[in-house]
Amino acid sequence: MVSLGDSIKFLKTVGPKREELFHKLGIYTIKDLLLYYPRRYEDSSKIIKIKDAVIGEKNTFKVRIISKLQSRKIRKGLSLVSFLGEDETGETEISFFNAFYLNSQIKIGSTYLVYGKANIFKGRLSISSPEIEEISQVKKLGKISPIYNLTEGLNNYSFEKLLEQVIDEDLFRENLTKEILKKYSFLGKNEAIKNIHFPSSRKSYILARQRLIYEELFLFELSILKNKFQNERRDAIKFEIYDEVYEFINNLPFELTEGQKNALDEVFEDMKKGKSINRLIQGDVGSGKTIIAIIIMYLAYLNGYQSSIMAPTEILAKQHFESFTQLLEPLGIKVKLLIGSTTKKVKMDILDNLEMGSVDILIGTHALIEENVKFRKLGLNVIDEQHRFGVVQRNRLQNKNKDAATIIMSATPIPRSLSLVLYADLDISVIKTMPKGRQKIDTIAINETMEEKSLAFIKKEIDSGRQAYVICALIEENEDYEELKSVEEVYEKLSDYFKEYKVALLHGKMKADEKNKIMEDFANGEINLLVSTTVIEVGINVPNATVMMIYNAERFGLSTLHQLRGRVGRGEYKSYCILYNLGKTEISWERMKIMTESNDGFYIANKDLELRGFGDILGTRQSGMPNLRLADPFRDTEILKYATDDAKNILREDPNLDGNKYSYLNKEITDFYSDLN
Ligand code: ADP
Ligand code: MG
Repeated sequence: MVSLGDSIKFLKTVGPKREELFHKLGIYTIKDLLLYYPRRYEDSSKIIKIKDAVIGEKNTFKVRIISKLQSRKIRKGLSLVSFLGEDETGETEISFFNAFYLNSQIKIGSTYLVYGKANIFKGRLSISSPEIEEISQVKKLGKISPIYNLTEGLNNYSFEKLLEQVIDEDLFRENLTKEILKKYSFLGKNEAIKNIHFPSSRKSYILARQRLIYEELFLFELSILKNKFQNERRDAIKFEIYDEVYEFINNLPFELTEGQKNALDEVFEDMKKGKSINRLIQGDVGSGKTIIAIIIMYLAYLNGYQSSIMAPTEILAKQHFESFTQLLEPLGIKVKLLIGSTTKKVKMDILDNLEMGSVDILIGTHALIEENVKFRKLGLNVIDEQHRFGVVQRNRLQNKNKDAATIIMSATPIPRSLSLVLYADLDISVIKTMPKGRQKIDTIAINETMEEKSLAFIKKEIDSGRQAYVICALIEENEDYEELKSVEEVYEKLSDYFKEYKVALLHGKMKADEKNKIMEDFANGEINLLVSTTVIEVGINVPNATVMMIYNAERFGLSTLHQLRGRVGRGEYKSYCILYNLGKTEISWERMKIMTESNDGFYIANKDLELRGFGDILGTRQSGMPNLRLADPFRDTEILKYATDDAKNILREDPNLDGNKYSYLNKEITDFYSDLN
């Protein structure tokens, strides 16, 4: 008997080597395996008559082989074998390349299932390089087969075999209530899992999908609404808005924008009320969110409270540390930095002082949420670039003092209608204006013919003392070896082209301190050109960098392109972004056009939605909402509505989910989030 939490190494055929490969896909346990859904399906289940063949598409036919048509070498390395097949309605040619062994395997007079693309060739129906199985020995054909996104060394067939070892064990417990299952006639959990992997029919696939989408959205809404129900009107710290804070604002080297002022007013209103605060501040890249954090943390200090700001990367944390120190230390405020690379001795010292209350502001990465980080009088937590952190991490920080205010800052532009559902537990402020004098980043989209010219342009910029980024695409989520190949290829090419300059490579598979070293060298101007994957996406500020060229721009979501582009144009110099579109489709050029005509993240996000749907807006791997597996809140609006209503009804009945009937849902919510990480 296996259980969900068991390691996959207990399955047959999984030795230590293969286990490693599964780890690469994030699969450690049997549960992970069962929740690793297919990327797509091959459907050969619908057998059609030859006369009904759909030209240009894959069809499944049941044919009797009448004769052999050809068996010959076309040229070196290319041979052709072809047969003539028939059913009651007509004939078709069936041909195979480089498959001489079929000469002896395919028997004249026998009947086969044939699945392949139908074409008209010399006036006759022809199926080229199909899959073929003898009718009495059908294994793969005649059904809907799952196709998984795997990694080098794992193949689809063995993945299916592995699933088959556990798929009939009914390992999941039902996590939707009887009422809900009945109300929508949903499949049970185990039935749904079975059919998402091995659909017995199209209909059962759709039913499985609906149930699983509902479940994801239900647990998601249940968790955020539970937070909201619990936080609403809960008493918390009441802050006083001292005049010193306005003095501080007046003494800043710049005037706040309208958007910044409004956001700040909204936060001040919250702070005066003495009720719990959970506010999201959304503002495009460069709209000036950091200064808001500095101001409200100063206010917390004036009120006698400590505060923290958590950033997603060490570089960003360090940059914050510099900005905060510069503005706040002259006022006698003690600011400290706590990151992974902080030495043990320094760390102990910081933690001691934090607990004694002699550190006022703590800046750091997720190192902040560790158990041993204890504040004396915590009043405010700021979470920067929220889309990098999950709800679980947010909660852990909040748990350090439930009365402390939480302010979340995000550059991910989401249309308001969606924010209201996805961030239902937060109040939202939007910074719509950019600081004055911000230059537009001139953006052009190019194809192969202009690569050389673009590189020459970059050279010119570097010659005049500026720095440049070249960004390469991550090819496929799990093909990390491909990622390296593409970014390394470009790196080699450019190292050659920019021989006289210092060129460096940065990618996600490097060790953290290696990465940090390179980013620091770049920030200090010691590197002229940085070739990188999207690891630089978040927050880094190098005002001397004025040009960014993005290879395979067609592979990125527009919001990601926009975030990336925000790395240039941060200083006094005119800046440029070159989108190298290697896609051939019309839609790829349409997407490039959106980028070239606008520098406004919200405009871009809305256009992107129109063209692509919701998943890409957030960048599926890094959203502040959980990475839903199947559900897409934008597409599945109808299901989302029902799931939200059902979640609300349950919470009205049992706000803490601690009664008999619903207490199991607490664990389901926790599992749901941890399964996604
Ligand atoms: P983001 O919203 O992307 O976090 P930052 O807070 O890093 O943006 O701000 C980007 C730059 O703009 C910083 O150098 C900051 O000092 C500057 N800045 C912020 N607010 C203003 C303003 N009102 N006027 C001029 N410059 C500003
Ligand atoms: Mg920022």
